[in-house]
Amino acid sequence: MMKITFLGTSGSLPTKERNPSAVMINREGELLLFDCGEGTQQQMMRAKTGMMRLTSIFLSHLHADHTLGVPGLLQTMAFQGRTEELTIFGPAGLSKFFEACRGLGLFALKYPIRIRELCPGDIVRRDGYTVKAVRTDHSVPSIGYILQDDPSPGRFNKERALELGVPEGRLFAKLHRGEQVTLSDGRLIDPYKDGIVGEERRGLKIGYSGDTRESEFFFTEAEGADLLIHEATFTKDTSENAAEWGHSTAGGVGKMAAGYHIGMLALVHISQRFSEDITPVIDEAKSEFENVIVPSDLDELEITNPRWPEDPEEQKQESGTRIRKNTYGKTERIRKHQQTQKQIQKQTKQTKQPWNGIQDTEWKTKKRRGQNEKQKRGEDIKKNDVTLPRKYLNTK
Ligand SMILES: [Zn+2]
Ligand SMILES: [Zn+2]
Repeated sequence: MMKITFLGTSGSLPTKERNPSAVMINREGELLLFDCGEGTQQQMMRAKTGMMRLTSIFLSHLHADHTLGVPGLLQTMAFQGRTEELTIFGPAGLSKFFEACRGLGLFALKYPIRIRELCPGDIVRRDGYTVKAVRTDHSVPSIGYILQDDPSPGRFNKERALELGVPEGRLFAKLHRGEQVTLSDGRLIDPYKDGIVGEERRGLKIGYSGDTRESEFFFTEAEGADLLIHEATFTKDTSENAAEWGHSTAGGVGKMAAGYHIGMLALVHISQRFSEDITPVIDEAKSEFENVIVPSDLDELEITNPRWPEDPEEQKQESGTRIRKNTYGKTERIRKHQQTQKQIQKQTKQTKQPWNGIQDTEWKTKKRRGQNEKQKRGEDIKKNDVTLPRKYLNTK
């Protein structure tokens, strides 16, 4: 299960109702932050997301409404005694951004921070999931992200195994792992060919666009996502500026979502003109795509992992999506969605590729810190992986 907290849903400027961009994803206790606009740390406090289990920040681009919350958040975690490493991902220019922050003396830290510039196609591999950087189309270098849980083994058909004479125990486990086994009478049993293990079931898939025009590159990668968090700064009535400024319209995104089999669409980066009344945004998107929401700040969304169950009844149970309105500690469940699995059953082919094209930063260090922690988390380590040592960020 993943819990998504919309910390900031405003486009470009904060408003009374909405903070600038930030979305927190709690994946089985690990916190992943996507963009970090000004005031994000206070939103985290209001939403009670926690802070210390944050392992990574994924920045879509370096515009101020997506990044200004970073220095303060880093500093607060230092004050709170953080010692664990934190990794910050982002497009080209990320290293320079941090160098500038350091130059301004904005933070003094006591824990290691790693800066990783990503190119479209780069994949961050972690224990149980991947995050892929995806090309988007904005006015400055930008990337979107696709968070994808690893597939899980297909369902184990115990009756079939017993019918074929497989004794319960160790051989069951081997078969479930997809391995062939030889029985005491010499027969070779194949878990798939002999119908003991069903098809591999894909993991949950979530897309985050950052700022972008409607982009086929992005949607091709996001295809089949259970949840797509996409910007919709404009509506068609106000769209004369959309392409010029590198943004999308609600209707345009809705249309793409329908074409690319998205399960649920959450529109964010809402223009200040719609901050109070989102009716035009949601109406326009709904005219193209039914399962769309425009979350308010601090709304939460819980998605149960869809494991591609074959049984339609089980599909209904497993694919529940729950939205909660969360306004300053007042939590009220307002809707319960049942996603139609038809919409998400077109699985995108995930290209398994190692780290590549990661740009070196000028902060190359002789010793890489934090490798042990990384290995514990199961993250890939490649040659040009860069750790930003504390001394670079300390101002004293
Ligand atoms: Zn923005
Ligand atoms: Zn922007």
